[in-house]
Amino acid sequence: MTNFTQLRRYGILDAKVPRYTSYPPANHFSDEVGQTEQSDWLRAVPEGASVSLYVHIPFCKRLCWFCACRTQGTSTLRPVEAYVETLLHEIDLVRARLPKDVSLSRLHLGGGTPTILSSDTMALLLDKIFDTFARGDAFEFSVEIDPTEASFALLDTLIIYGMNRASIGVQDFDPRVQTAIGRMQSFQQTSEVVHHLRTGNLDSLNMDLLYGLPFQTAQSLSQSLQDVMSLQPDRLALYGYAHVPWMSKRQVLIDESALPDPEMRYELSEVARRLLTLDGFEQIGFDHFARPGDGLATAKASGHLRRNFQGYTDDTAEVLIGLGASAISKFPQGYSQNQSATAKYVAAIEGQALAGARGFALSDADRWIALAIEQLMCGFQVNIAQLQADFPAHASTISTAFSQLAAAFPLGVAIDGHNLSVNSGFEPLVRILAGQLDAFQAPQTAHSSAI
Ligand code: SF4
Repeated sequence: MTNFTQLRRYGILDAKVPRYTSYPPANHFSDEVGQTEQSDWLRAVPEGASVSLYVHIPFCKRLCWFCACRTQGTSTLRPVEAYVETLLHEIDLVRARLPKDVSLSRLHLGGGTPTILSSDTMALLLDKIFDTFARGDAFEFSVEIDPTEASFALLDTLIIYGMNRASIGVQDFDPRVQTAIGRMQSFQQTSEVVHHLRTGNLDSLNMDLLYGLPFQTAQSLSQSLQDVMSLQPDRLALYGYAHVPWMSKRQVLIDESALPDPEMRYELSEVARRLLTLDGFEQIGFDHFARPGDGLATAKASGHLRRNFQGYTDDTAEVLIGLGASAISKFPQGYSQNQSATAKYVAAIEGQALAGARGFALSDADRWIALAIEQLMCGFQVNIAQLQADFPAHASTISTAFSQLAAAFPLGVAIDGHNLSVNSGFEPLVRILAGQLDAFQAPQTAHSSAI
């Protein structure tokens, strides 16, 4: 029996499971956690702590059909500039609650399209951030860059302010696929931006691709990957396209009949994985790839790989503060998400309050599951004995949960002494395995395919 036959029996083609960028996933957040908890958790950050910032810019010049990001279209910069003014106020409100000597571990600008900002507005935002927070020793500054919109003047501003990691979404270079997903982005445009970035002090270039798009074939995806690899990225993220038009209305514009079926999705993911590993990339978790020596590969080797809302990370800060509409903060105590609607977010901040509107307070019963899922997703194994030692009140529940997991997936996982590990070739199962530990077991329609 091939691995694929067994993976299919274990539900790889049918299962709908979260990506587990948090546990519990954000669809379990509720309004029982709001501004009060957000404020208390900020005040509880210890003196001298390292914190990371995520800044969400929820604007795009056009809305691509495939994209499920929380963003809005705008044809002028006026609303973006007004939004940045609000971000400046939010930074003050957050900083006032933190101890004096916190330092920044990471700053990530995401969206939406952070590169929609003019150079002057970007400089205003970055001046505020760096005047407010001292950079830590291993500080990294990353930005999501849209090559179809970013001006060289803006890229130069980012480089001057120390951006050392750029992330560029490609999806696919095939014009037929791009037309079908409502996003045209030529290789030439992308290449020019990459070459310009390389003239700065960029340490690392990340590129994102999607498989499972309409009209994609193994051949077209391979060609896109070859094109991407010619730009010499240090990291690649390879995500399965999640077709969820009931959650992301724009996706109704995508012709469902042109989408690859589950078998084809699996083949596409395998073709990409084989090509990338043959080219010398190391697989990181279930959907990232990195050149040996890149921070993610180093973190994987040392057992310090982590998972957060941006996917896999080598950031070791315990606190991630999300700024902007819908941004999520992660604290040791739980998660706090800002108002999702930009107008409500602005109203909260302009009223001199924090914008936390929903979230989740972690209990110890949630924490051991969160840790186990993170270990599974990052290293494909869980040290059961260590987990029991860390959560003694749950030792017997932990033991039962992993015994049941091993019994349900006898070929997929093995328990050796006190360690559970995913067997070679069964790594694509990892989200399904994590789902077995998930105490919430959300309705399947809320999530994307396991492959
Ligand atoms: S892909 Fe980028 S530019 Fe297109 S809608 Fe999504 S965030 Fe905006």
